Amino acid sequence: MVAITRRQFLRRSALAVAGVGLVPPRLVIKGPAKKVLILGAGMAGLAAGYELSKLGHDITILEARTRPGGRVFTMHEPFADGLYAEAGAARIRDNHNLTLKYVKAFNLPLEPFYPADLKAVRFDRGSREEVPISGYTDAMTRNYGGELGDGPEIWHQIKGGMDLLPKAFAAQLGDKIQYGAAVVRIEQDAKQATVKFVKDRTTQTLTADVVLCTIPFSVLRKLELPALSSRKKDLIKRTPYDAVSRVYLQTKSRFWETNGLNGFAFTEGAIEIWHPTWSQPGPRGILMSYARPTEADRITKLKENERISETLGQLDSIFTGLRLNFERGTTKCWLEDEWSRGAWGFVGVLEAVKASEPDGRIYFAGEHLSPWYSWVQGALSSSLRAVKLIDSTADV
Ligand SMILES: Cc1cc2nc3c(=O)[nH]c(=O)nc-3n(C[C@H](O)[C@H](O)[C@H](O)COP(=O)(O)OP(=O)(O)OC[C@H]3O[C@@H](n4cnc5c(N)ncnc54)[C@H](O)[C@@H]3O)c2cc1C
Repeated sequence: MVAITRRQFLRRSALAVAGVGLVPPRLVIKGPAKKVLILGAGMAGLAAGYELSKLGHDITILEARTRPGGRVFTMHEPFADGLYAEAGAARIRDNHNLTLKYVKAFNLPLEPFYPADLKAVRFDRGSREEVPISGYTDAMTRNYGGELGDGPEIWHQIKGGMDLLPKAFAAQLGDKIQYGAAVVRIEQDAKQATVKFVKDRTTQTLTADVVLCTIPFSVLRKLELPALSSRKKDLIKRTPYDAVSRVYLQTKSRFWETNGLNGFAFTEGAIEIWHPTWSQPGPRGILMSYARPTEADRITKLKENERISETLGQLDSIFTGLRLNFERGTTKCWLEDEWSRGAWGFVGVLEAVKASEPDGRIYFAGEHLSPWYSWVQGALSSSLRAVKLIDSTADV
């Protein structure tokens, strides 16, 4: 039997309590057109803006960053030759129907996430094995304790980078998105909701019939929220977020391929090693380590050069010759990201349904409110649930 982690336990229990799976709510036009202010242009905010606009509502999205996508971000810098790797969301499972629905709607090209050729490296009880990629995905599924659900291990990625998906939403929404707009205060009264945000170093104010807040609770707890119920504020304050760290090493060549390896590995400490550039033109390549708590907490505390040199040493023992081929490295630790403060969070099994309910004119969405938290699928399903609620309410 496989011991399950806190994350697996939460997801399984939440699915059981909420009685929900991957099926999205149906969107039907019911209520009057509303002015909606959406906070955050991650997947939840973008999908809500897109669907609410289609339903005839007047939307504006305020986004603190200068780009759309939030935790979906494809890194092109500092890599050479147009190579890229994902900072956040990277793989789409074949049963993530909502994510795939939008990928298809925007005509984005999919390709397999994992290479079918060559061998992956897997460490198990002290021994090193070279296995087909199914040996890697088995180890991953076992480590996740089956939380990924039933069904074949078919994983996709968007060719050209995962952030083509948020960019496609953003292209549809145009100037309805205000970038560099950091929300600092959310208020409401009997007539309207009011949001204060800082843009171009000045504090500005916008009002609306309703607000849809998709800001991660890890960031939201630092904002002024005078008009929220104490129960909601308490939840926002205590929802835990996990650390995740990724360390990227660019190499002169993909020397591991000449040794019959595809660049993927699963270590004893359940750290995944990816070769994000396997389907991109060479000769250079990128190897990436992907650590979760508690290893990621430790790595986050290191300096950038320490993270890189330590990972270089670890990966050189798996792919001999890495040091000689290494050119440059970079890292992404999500705890230190100002607008995420963690990789993913979940409000909790017993709180999930209540936490998703609106507080007056203020509605909530985001991966942290879905049993499918830590996936784009979760952000989208919570978003569509909020869209349905906002659209159907007559009381504005
Ligand atoms: C390392 C990592 C790996 C992952 N891997 C996968 C994967 O392989 N497959 C998958 O499907 N999912 C994956 N995910 C999860 C997926 O990325 C998220 O579930 C999803 O993108 C979350 O979307 P969201 O809209 O809920 O939140 P976010 O993307 O965080 O969007 C919230 C937005 O709010 C903005 N914001 C924050 N504060 C403010 C403020 N004060 N004012 C204005 N705007 C603000 C943020 O900048 C952000 O754009 C991964 C995530 C991480 C971090």
